[in-house]
Amino acid sequence: MSQLELRNLRKEFTGGGEDIVAVDDVDLTLDDGEFLVLVGPSGCGKSTTLRMIAGLESVTAGDVVIDGESVRELEPRERDIAMVFQNYALYPHMTTRENIGFGLKMTSDLDSAERNRQVEDVAESLGIEELLDDYPKELSGGQQQRVALGRAIIRDPEVFLMDEPLSNLDAKLRTQMRTELKALQDDLGVTTVYVTHDQTEAMTMGDRIAILNHGELQQVGTPLECYHQPANKFVAGFIGAPSMNFLDASVEGNRLRHSLFDYELSSTTADVVDGHDRVTMGIRPEDIRVVDEADVDNPVAADVHLVEPLGDISHVTLNVGEQQFTAVVPGGQAFERGEHVTLQFPEDDLHLFDADSGQALK
Ligand code: ATP
Repeated sequence: MSQLELRNLRKEFTGGGEDIVAVDDVDLTLDDGEFLVLVGPSGCGKSTTLRMIAGLESVTAGDVVIDGESVRELEPRERDIAMVFQNYALYPHMTTRENIGFGLKMTSDLDSAERNRQVEDVAESLGIEELLDDYPKELSGGQQQRVALGRAIIRDPEVFLMDEPLSNLDAKLRTQMRTELKALQDDLGVTTVYVTHDQTEAMTMGDRIAILNHGELQQVGTPLECYHQPANKFVAGFIGAPSMNFLDASVEGNRLRHSLFDYELSSTTADVVDGHDRVTMGIRPEDIRVVDEADVDNPVAADVHLVEPLGDISHVTLNVGEQQFTAVVPGGQAFERGEHVTLQFPEDDLHLFDADSGQALK
C-alpha cells in the first residue's frame, strides 16, 4: 500500500519585499497505484508542489504523508520516492547499464550479477536492452528518457514523481511515449504524480487530474468529470481543445438575454439560474450546431470568419457580435468566409456559470 496525502500543503516565497503564495493549502489524497496528473498554466505552483513532496523544497505549512507517516522532516534520499525530470539528467560518462544500475549500487548490497540481472529486466520492460552499452550522447531523446525512467523504476519506490518528462520530445514521439508510460505505470502499479501544463496529456494519461490555478486547487476528478462537469469557468476554459466559448448574458425570468439573442430556458434550467442577475454561458466548440436557416429554436446570429479544414472535421472561427467563437463541424460541411450563419447551443450542452464568481451552476 502506498497512499500519498497532501494535507493543506502551503508554500510561500519571500523575495523583493513581497510574499508569493506559490501553493495555497492544497489538500489531496492519491490512492495506492493511482496515476494523478497535476495540471495548470505556467506559474500555478505545479513544480513547487512536486518539489515539496520530494523534499527538494521546504514546506511553509501543512504536511506530506506517505502511508500514514509524515515525511515532512525527512531528507529527499530518506523518502521512498523516485523522480523523473524533463531534462533526463543522465550521467554522460556512464553507459545505459551504469546509469540504470547506479542508484542500486549506491543503496543496496546486491552483488554485481544480481544488479546486472535487474538492470537487464528493467531495460527489457522499456525496450532498450539493445542500448545497454551505449552512452547518453549516442541515444535519441526518447531513448534517453527511457533510460531516465529505468533509473527510477529499478529503485522500486513507493511513489513516482514526474515533472514534464515528455516535453523535450517531438510531438509524434510524445504521443507514443504517453501511451507507453501510462501502460508501464499500470503494470508497475506505483502511485504517481505527473506534472504537465498540457491539458491533452492530462486528459489522456490521468486516472484523475488535479487542476491548479494561482496555487489553488480548482478541481480534482476523472478527466471526463472535469470535461463534462467543470467546477468553475477556469476549469471549463482550461480543459478541452479548442477551448470552451464563453458569453455573458443577463437573466430575465426563464430567458437569457444578450444584444444578439434571447434564449428561452426550460423550467429546470431556469430554476438553476434563479437569483442570479448575470451568468456566463459556456458552449464547447464540438457542441455548437452551425445551420444555414434562421428559423430554429434559440437562434444566435454569426458570421464565418475563418475555416480551417483538418480532414474529418473543420475548425470554424465565427464572429458573434464583438466576440469570436470556435466551432468544430464535420469536414464535409462547407462554409464561405463572411457567410451569415445561425448557431444553436443545445440546452443539454450549455454550461452556465455565475458571472461574478465563475462557479458552475449547470
Ligand atoms: P511552470 O509550468 O512554468 O514550471 P509551475 O506551475 O511549475 O510553472 P512553479 O514553478 O511551482 O509553477 O512556481 C509557482 C510560483 O512560485 C511562481 O509565481 C514562481 O514565480 C514562484 N516561485 C517558484 N520558485 C520560487 C523561488 N525559489 N523563489 C521565489 N518565487 C518562486
